Amino acid sequence: MSDMAPFPDDTADLRHDIIETARALPRLGLTKGTSGNVSARTKSGFLVTPSGTPYEDLTADRIVALDFEGRYRGDTLPSSEWRMHLDFYLAKPSCGAVVHCHSPRATALSCHRRGIPAFHYMVALAGGDRIECADYASFGTRALSDAMTAALGERNACLLANHGQIAGGPNLKKALSIAEGVEDLADQYLSSLVLGEPVILDAEEMADILNKFKSYGKQTDELEDGQAAAFELPKRVD
Ligand code: 13P
Ligand code: ZN
Repeated sequence: MSDMAPFPDDTADLRHDIIETARALPRLGLTKGTSGNVSARTKSGFLVTPSGTPYEDLTADRIVALDFEGRYRGDTLPSSEWRMHLDFYLAKPSCGAVVHCHSPRATALSCHRRGIPAFHYMVALAGGDRIECADYASFGTRALSDAMTAALGERNACLLANHGQIAGGPNLKKALSIAEGVEDLADQYLSSLVLGEPVILDAEEMADILNKFKSYGKQTDELEDGQAAAFELPKRVD
């Protein structure tokens, strides 16, 4: 999330994209019932899903607009976790979207109040060498949001004790994919624990991985100077 994105206006398209992202949560097995919530930053604040609403009942007019002081407009109550979304945006100026869900394996791990160490290099997807688990606080509270902010640090995802996970990204697609990635890692980590504690990658290796992630997925014309050096590229012959 290093690049500052130009954030969109509150438009019908953005409201539609929030609903599509929210509906992807149950479809991908990342949440059930009315658990979880989704938001996207706008020029003047952010839009968030309403509280306690089944995903199939979401409509564009029930997506709630808040400003950066936490004030909302309209007749629909915003997600009870509005403050976590607000604090995510305030802490991370380049974050454009936030997804919170009770994905089963991340939630299972969070009930043991265990974060995800560097048992696999992909923990770097959250922007650090581990994914922390925030201290417990009741849902929908400032205390939970404060615990989230502390657990995030410089990263863009964390587990929430006895609750679930939260992930942010430059846009809705990326925030959803980070939440999916966190669930995947929690699943793999719990599986690996069957045989005892797995081997944890050291700080030097994870620093190298984090550097590689800056260029991973980019084509050569998209790379900044020196980024290609992080990979052992084959020789180009044409
Ligand atoms: P909302 O329905 O209010 O968004 O709450 C769901 C949730 O996951 C609370 O933590
Ligand atoms: Zn929740």
